[in-house]
Amino acid sequence: MVRFLRPCVEDETLEEVVAYDGVLSASAKKTRAPARVELIKRRGKYVLFRSDAGQWSVIHPRMSGRLAWGRVDATDHVRMLWRFSGGELRLVDQRRLGTVVVHEGAEPNLRLGPEALDELDWLPRAVAQSRMPIKVWLMDQRKIAGIGNIYASEICFRAGVDPRRPARELSEEEVERLTKLIPTVLEEAIASQGTTLGDGRYRQPGGAPGSFTAQLAVYGREGAPCPVCGASLVRFVQSARSTFSCPRCQC
Ligand SMILES: [Zn+2]
Repeated sequence: MVRFLRPCVEDETLEEVVAYDGVLSASAKKTRAPARVELIKRRGKYVLFRSDAGQWSVIHPRMSGRLAWGRVDATDHVRMLWRFSGGELRLVDQRRLGTVVVHEGAEPNLRLGPEALDELDWLPRAVAQSRMPIKVWLMDQRKIAGIGNIYASEICFRAGVDPRRPARELSEEEVERLTKLIPTVLEEAIASQGTTLGDGRYRQPGGAPGSFTAQLAVYGREGAPCPVCGASLVRFVQSARSTFSCPRCQC
């Protein structure tokens, strides 16, 4: 999202902000405009932009939300609109789980762990100290920031690790595989512009679907054959989220 939006909003003038949802109206009112957007960045799963009015707008699309650049279908659920000199940015969010918060001054501390795409030499030690199931650990944004539900399942599959195993019980080799696979899977997904599932909710800001869907090995494939061994893939729930895995390849 941020790579797409950077050339659209950086150095552009934010002219107006409109909320179509009462929950977000305070953030819209608080945003000073006109103001020039100095930078847009990602931190974990948040999108942040800073304006020369000294404000940070912190957007979390969450599960059903997306940021759209340009016109959207009339049937889409637009909750907020940022009108720029060169175009329009919208938060489209059917389930209304997304958040927009405006901070004054310095970059806000979002209380997140280190970035999943940064150096991970700290990770084996942290994993060895936790009894959380490894997939739940990977999704805990305070431990490591930026891994979502789809990619946590895919990372565990490629590492050959049962997602339910307590983190600290993983062997050194298993942790080493996981550490290597975290950036590998995320970079592949980013290169494919993300994953658009059957509900079609997630799309690139320009409206095109993400194509990582075709590369999913386990996510959403309950009952289908494992691409490696052919066993029937299984689904179970961990921390209220669906996990998909192969009962044979992952132990
Ligand atoms: Zn398998």
